[in-house]
Amino acid sequence: MTNLTDGFGRSINYLRLSVTDRCDFRCVYCMSEDVRFLPKAQVLTLEELLLTARSFTELGVNKIRLTGGEPLVRPGIVDLCHEISRLENLQELTLTTNGSQLSGLAHGLAGAGVSRINISLDTLQETRFDSLTRRNKLSQVLDGIDSAIDAGFKRIKLNAVVMKQRNDDEIIDLINFARSRELDITFIEEMPLGEISSHSRRESFCSSDDVQAIIQQQFPLLSSAETTGGPARYFRMPGGSSRIGFISPYSHKFCDSCNRVRVTVEGHLLLCLGNEHSLDLRYLIRANPGNLEPVKNAIIKALGNKPLDHQFSHSDEVQLVRFMNMTGG
Ligand code: SAM
Ligand code: SF4
Repeated sequence: MTNLTDGFGRSINYLRLSVTDRCDFRCVYCMSEDVRFLPKAQVLTLEELLLTARSFTELGVNKIRLTGGEPLVRPGIVDLCHEISRLENLQELTLTTNGSQLSGLAHGLAGAGVSRINISLDTLQETRFDSLTRRNKLSQVLDGIDSAIDAGFKRIKLNAVVMKQRNDDEIIDLINFARSRELDITFIEEMPLGEISSHSRRESFCSSDDVQAIIQQQFPLLSSAETTGGPARYFRMPGGSSRIGFISPYSHKFCDSCNRVRVTVEGHLLLCLGNEHSLDLRYLIRANPGNLEPVKNAIIKALGNKPLDHQFSHSDEVQLVRFMNMTGG
């Protein structure tokens, strides 16, 4: 088995695989309301998604996170999870979801070998939820969270993107919600992916240090060396098991320890969230039926071009035209 290493000596053991660009929400920081989704022929089939996952596990990747778009709107997702979770070398199959479909799918996903779930939740207020996601589905998401707990998932993590004047007054409410259900929660700095019209990213930017300061007015945060293999820095709070995490692409850049690559649903291998370098794996998979060697060799070679770091800066200029749903967030 080859161990994937990039040109800077970083070992790559984690793949984020996007299974769809489609979504039943239109979160203001992620998509425009009139987003156009990809034609079907451009999207990897379920079989191609499995082949992609297999190429990476055969190269030493041992953790795969399925994402999107909204992974749970992809027809056949439970069967795909079942197939991927059985790949040799894979230690962990995880999934990031908006939670809207979890009521019906949580038990099936647990049975299909998904070991952990992250659920996005930026607000607990119905009207605000409608304006942030442009959809009226808060109660569906809350039911989905309860279903995931009921299905036995351990260490469920909530993800909240924090924006000034939009939801930064709900940080403590979100923490109390997480603590009441013994969930972890991570606060994310908004990234400049795709052009949006709903708000100024520069003006609404809320740094992890700002969020931390708000929390510390109410709760002491005890720093912790725990990691889930991702970029989050974790803290504990007295009197509960919940961990509070921060993903801070601006204020605490985590590129030095980057261990991951992404594959979009079009089959583009993205070497860095914040750069445009990519390799067309779909072409290679379709051009070499029944033979993954050319795909694997191309992945090994591409890793040599993985950039050292992202170059996001605080401005309203579009820094990457690719929206998060196209990136595989
Ligand atoms: N639909 C699923 C969900 O919302 O969890 C999975 C895909 S979504 C693109 C993955 C994560 O990216 C979500 O937690 C979402 O909040 C986050 N996200 C989307 N756009 C973002 C942006 N511009 N900056 C920071 N996080 C973003
Ligand atoms: Fe959909 Fe997730 Fe993007 Fe929201 S963040 S629009 S739920 S893909």
